[in-house]
Amino acid sequence: MDDCEQGVRPPRGAGFGDDMESKGKLLLVRIPTVSLTKSSYFVAPSQTASLHTEQDDDNFDDEFIRISDVEWAERRLIEWPDPCKCRPDRNGCCVAEKCELVAQQVECPPECPVGAMCRNKRIQNKQWKKVGVFDAGLKGRGLMVLERCKRGELVIEYLGVEVPRQTSEPMQYLLRLDGNVHIDASHRGSLARYINHSCEPNCVVERWRVAGVTRAGIFAKRVIREGEELTFDYQWDAVPGRDKTPCHCGARTCRQTIQR
Ligand SMILES: [Zn+2]
Ligand SMILES: [Zn+2]
Ligand SMILES: [Zn+2]
Repeated sequence: MDDCEQGVRPPRGAGFGDDMESKGKLLLVRIPTVSLTKSSYFVAPSQTASLHTEQDDDNFDDEFIRISDVEWAERRLIEWPDPCKCRPDRNGCCVAEKCELVAQQVECPPECPVGAMCRNKRIQNKQWKKVGVFDAGLKGRGLMVLERCKRGELVIEYLGVEVPRQTSEPMQYLLRLDGNVHIDASHRGSLARYINHSCEPNCVVERWRVAGVTRAGIFAKRVIREGEELTFDYQWDAVPGRDKTPCHCGARTCRQTIQR
């Protein structure tokens, strides 16, 4: 169970709020009129009728509160790394293959020598994409992106409450950060918890060190178009004696169960 991205989550889908007031502004969301293919996961307009975004203040899920940072079990010591040796460059600095900190998945300290041109403070600066929760049919709720993402861009940080360690019972919305450190988004977290599993995902979870602490970002694996459902591979391992969870990802290479 050590490599579990998350625990087993119960079927969801019913129970969207009927609050038309809060939906008014979301009717402006333009959904691309691209045909629905198995590999692109475009969301049908009917499924977007009850979109909920990170900016909404409506409490669409009684069991869930959105928080702005991971809630750690104890105070963490802030330990910024030494600045990198990047030089200002008009195309932007501190990017892959050029910055020694990026190469180690470490974010730059606030006083990075390239100043405002530094592109390696994405998690600390919350450079998230606009996302919305929608009804994803058999999969329950899902998360879609409301603007285009380039390959490698941060989409959202997986936030939750630090829990001491994984218990033998599967926990919903659990994500391993580092060694024994897990965060649980069952009751408090970011909308990243609504991202469904796919056997052919468009996102990947990357662990980055920020101020000496490991944090989990959801990054685009390829270009993701506005209106596409976000997915990552949960990488669950089968547990002897426990039923596998059916997968409804719809990918050509679907392995039929979420567990490998
Ligand atoms: Zn750098
Ligand atoms: Zn930098
Ligand atoms: Zn699948």
